[in-house]
Amino acid sequence: MTMKTTRRRFIFTAASSGLGAFTAATQAANTAGAQSGVVVIPERKVPVLAEADVVVCGGGMAGISTACCAARQGAKVILLERWPSLGGMATNALVNIWHTSDRRKQVIYGFAQEAIERGGEFMHRYADYPKRPETHWFDPEGMRVVFWKMLGDRGVRTICNVTAIESIVAEGRIRAMLVDTKTGRKAVCGKIFIDATGDGDVAANAGVPFDLGREGDGRVQGMTMIYSLHDVDQATVRAAKPEVRERVFKHMQELRDAGKFPQFNEGGAKHVLHSGVNHVPFNMVPASGNPIPEEDLTRLSMESREHVFQIVDLWRREMPGFEKAKVTQMGYALGVRESRRIRGLKTLDGTMVVKAAKQPDAIGHGFWMIDIHDPKGTGYTTWTDQKKELMPPAGDSYHIPLGMCLNAKIPNLAVVGRCASTTHEGLASVRLQSHCMVMGQGVGTCAALALNAGVDMAKLDVHQLQAQLRKDGVYLEDVP
Ligand SMILES: Cc1cc2nc3c(=O)[nH]c(=O)nc-3n(C[C@H](O)[C@H](O)[C@H](O)COP(=O)(O)OP(=O)(O)OC[C@H]3O[C@@H](n4cnc5c(N)ncnc54)[C@H](O)[C@@H]3O)c2cc1C
Repeated sequence: MTMKTTRRRFIFTAASSGLGAFTAATQAANTAGAQSGVVVIPERKVPVLAEADVVVCGGGMAGISTACCAARQGAKVILLERWPSLGGMATNALVNIWHTSDRRKQVIYGFAQEAIERGGEFMHRYADYPKRPETHWFDPEGMRVVFWKMLGDRGVRTICNVTAIESIVAEGRIRAMLVDTKTGRKAVCGKIFIDATGDGDVAANAGVPFDLGREGDGRVQGMTMIYSLHDVDQATVRAAKPEVRERVFKHMQELRDAGKFPQFNEGGAKHVLHSGVNHVPFNMVPASGNPIPEEDLTRLSMESREHVFQIVDLWRREMPGFEKAKVTQMGYALGVRESRRIRGLKTLDGTMVVKAAKQPDAIGHGFWMIDIHDPKGTGYTTWTDQKKELMPPAGDSYHIPLGMCLNAKIPNLAVVGRCASTTHEGLASVRLQSHCMVMGQGVGTCAALALNAGVDMAKLDVHQLQAQLRKDGVYLEDVP
């Protein structure tokens, strides 16, 4: 296979490998480039690493679900992941809670239910299921292996440690994905490409428009460094007099307000000082900034690791029961809730969420509230106040439409997960992992059926797709 693109002059061939010649002109341009801040890449041959019907970039919950569900319909699928293990935020940022209930009943089944059942000893159901949205929690270490096995059982070829770096677009379609590997740049060819990178890397570098941040100041939701804590003597913590924990809490506030202590989630801190958590104290350590530029992300990530130790050190010094407390694990990555939101055929917004809007192109249900972690990084979240106007009514849910995953520019590209088409407020609900899995199942199934039918994803008969999703266990009710 040989192809030229109009964007940059890449030539790649399945049979060839090796760098192209550095011409005199290229060398001259690069000598000048050192001064002008650009380097000219010479035309070169890039070896083809793999070829598939569906190429999924990103191995978080959205990507895993997409890959498994496309393969289930018979497509040949490759999943590419930049990190050494699978699960994305779920495992690598230690975000280990799933929500499947509209507060009356479970409304997310399908692939999510399959993963719950495959989770075995690593998956746990909350005792009050299904009375609140949070229904399950899991052990991230175990689930990394479970996800790997689920993909393997479906015949997905999973390649970790490769970063999707550039979409090769020709005649309006993505033809190949360039990936960076330890042995150099390679190409992965496919018929359909799925951007499950969380950051919308693939769609953005293919030229699909996107939004970043909220209206007004362009800030994204606050990030969080999640960590786990052990060797806390919970009995001693719980026996402490209220004035002791209030004193510690007040001291944290005073130091923070004086700029001598990191920001922290106040609700989380109160909970820890009350119960002496011996696992993951949720959402304690916030961070604020743009998660895309690598140097900013490096600084935010390292600062938040330091903040974890500062907070735990204070507890060790001041709170009875914490004397021997140890930080046993931090996220491999800083937890990112929001980055690029790729513009799609439909955009899920806050009104659709709270009004539980139903959609003709529904691929499943979502129900989470508009849960915004303060973009300024104070640790405050709208979840704290549980305001009724920020959530769909209990027992009701909105539809997740296929259109939020498709776009008007590139017909063989779909975007799933937290980079799909939403407003800042819409994302604050649909970013949940269970909702990302719904998108993944809908899009993975759509991709495979579209290939079988010989049409683009947007042209597939949506009733055929919905019938297949129901057959595969997806809860899909009230479709108008
Ligand atoms: C602190 C925190 C707490 C949260 N709490 C909850 C909660 O309680 N329950 C819940 O359900 N959700 C929660 N969320 C939200 C949820 O975790 C995420 O929205 C969801 O996991 C996103 O899934 P995803 O697959 O879209 O993206 P991600 O999980 O981000 O996965 C993207 C994957 O793509 C890979 N990738 C990125 N770029 C490339 C590239 N160029 N090439 C190859 N691979 C690439 C990444 O390494 C990653 O594995 C929380 C999020 C955070 C940060």
